[in-house]
Amino acid sequence: SLSSSSVIIVGAGISGIAAAKVLAENGVQDMVILEATERIGGRIRKEEFGGLNVEIGAGWIQGVGGKQSNPVWELATKSGLKTCYSDYSNARFNIYDQSGNIFPREVAADSYNRAVESAIRELRNEEEENLPSISSITEPPMVPKTPIELAIDFILHDFEMAEVEPIATYTDFGEREFLVADERGYEHLLYKMAENFLLTKDGDIIDNRLKLNKVVSEVEYSKNGVTVKTEDGSFYKAKYIILSASVGVLQSDLITFSPPLPKWKTEAIQKVDVIVYTKIFLKFPYKFWPCGPGTEFFLYAHEKRGYYTFWQHMENAYPGSNILVVTLTNEESKRVERQGDEETLKEAMGALRDMFGSQIPDASHILVPKWWNNRFQRGSYTNYPILSNPLHFAGIKAPVGPIFFTGEHTHERFNGYVHGGYLSGIDTSNNLLEAMRKEEERRTIQSSPF
Ligand code: FAD
Repeated sequence: SLSSSSVIIVGAGISGIAAAKVLAENGVQDMVILEATERIGGRIRKEEFGGLNVEIGAGWIQGVGGKQSNPVWELATKSGLKTCYSDYSNARFNIYDQSGNIFPREVAADSYNRAVESAIRELRNEEEENLPSISSITEPPMVPKTPIELAIDFILHDFEMAEVEPIATYTDFGEREFLVADERGYEHLLYKMAENFLLTKDGDIIDNRLKLNKVVSEVEYSKNGVTVKTEDGSFYKAKYIILSASVGVLQSDLITFSPPLPKWKTEAIQKVDVIVYTKIFLKFPYKFWPCGPGTEFFLYAHEKRGYYTFWQHMENAYPGSNILVVTLTNEESKRVERQGDEETLKEAMGALRDMFGSQIPDASHILVPKWWNNRFQRGSYTNYPILSNPLHFAGIKAPVGPIFFTGEHTHERFNGYVHGGYLSGIDTSNNLLEAMRKEEERRTIQSSPF
C-alpha cells in the first residue's frame, strides 16, 4: 500500500508530537506520524512497578522558578500534572561509607567544595587552551581517589555541573526541580497536547494519522519528496519528512538513507556524545532508610566510581510505596544491561547492606530499564561538550533536502531535556512551514502569466 501526504513525522516522543501540533495549527493536516513502538512518549515513559506507575525515562521537570517560565512547567500546570519539589543538593550531606557510617557534614562539605573548585579550575584551563597564544601556569586538577572523593566526583559531573558552570536550563528557567508524581505519568502531557489535533476517544488516540508499531527502515529522498519504508513492508510518500529519532539511533544503522546523508551531516551526528542513564527501581516490604526533610537523596561511597552511588527514596512522590531508586550511568549502565537482573539485585542489596546493615529485607521487585540496548533509543540523552562549537549544532539541525531534523539533540540551549525536545519540535515545524511558504511562492511565480 502507498499512502501519500504532505509531511511524515518519524517518532511520537515529545518533539514529534510538538512538531505535529504546530503543523496542524498552521493548516497542515495531511500528515502521518510513524512510531516504532506501541505507544507515544518515547523517552517519557511510565511503567507499572509494584502496583503503581513509575517513570523509567524522564522524571523531573528541571528549571523552574526563574525569570522565564519553562514551557514544560506551563504544560504541567495547565494539565494539573501532580509533581513534588525535589532537591538533590541534599545528597552531598548523606554520604555513607561501606561500614554504614555517614560522613560528618563538615567532611562532606569540605570534599564537595574542593571538588567544585577543582572542576572550575579544569574548565578555565580548557578554555585557555582554546585561546591562541595565552600561556599560563595551570594547577593540575584534583584526581579523586578515596571513596568519598569518587562519590562526590560522580554526583558533581553527572548531576550538578550547574555548580561549576552556567547551564542554560537553570539560568533561563530557574534552579528548582520538580519530580513528576502522577499515576497518569509524565506522558499525560503528550496526550493533552495530542488531544488538540488528533482524534481521541476516552483518553485514547484513535486518529489513523498516528501509526504505531511502524519502524522506519529506509528513507529515499530527492528534491521532489520522500518515500519511507517500514520494517513491516509498508511504504509512505510525502513532500517532506521530520525525523525525531534520537542521535543514538542516527548513529546506528537502523535507518538507511538513499542517497546516503552528506558527509557534513554524518560527521556532525557521529560527534555527539550520548549518555546512558539508568534508574533502577527496588521495592521493599518496609522502609529501613531515613525519611523526612533533607533525606530524599543519599550516596554510597565505594572505591569504584559510579558503583551504586546515587540513591533516592520515593516517599515524596509515592508515599508508603517503599521504593528506592539507584541511578547508574554510562559504563555501569552498560555493564548491568549485559547481566541478568538477579545479578543486579544482588549487587544493589550488597550496597544497601553495607549502608544499612545485614538485617534489612531483600527487595521484592526490581526494574532495570535498558535504554542502551533499546534499538529505538541507543542511550538516554545527549551530552554536548561544555565548550562546543555552534557550527556543530548547525550541522545537527540543518535539513537535508526534504528531511528536517528534530529532537532534544537539535536544541542548542536545552539539549538533553524534555523542554529541549518540546522546543525543538516547535522550532523544526516553524522552519518547515517557512520552507513550504517559499516553495509555494516559487510555484506561484513560475505559473504566473506575467
Ligand atoms: P524521543 O522521546 O526519543 O522520541 C523519539 C521517538 O522516535 C521515540 O518514540 C522512538 O521510539 C521513535 N523512533 C526511533 N527510531 C524510529 C524509527 N526508525 N521509526 C519510527 N520511530 C522511531 N529530561 C528532563 O528534562 N528531565 C529528566 O528528569 C530526564 N531524565 C531522563 C531520564 C532517562 C532515563 C532518560 C532516558 C531521559 C531523561 N531525560 C530527562 C531526557 C528526556 O527524556 C529527553 O530529552 C526527551 O524526552 C527526548 O524527546 P525526543 O522527542 O527528542 O526523543
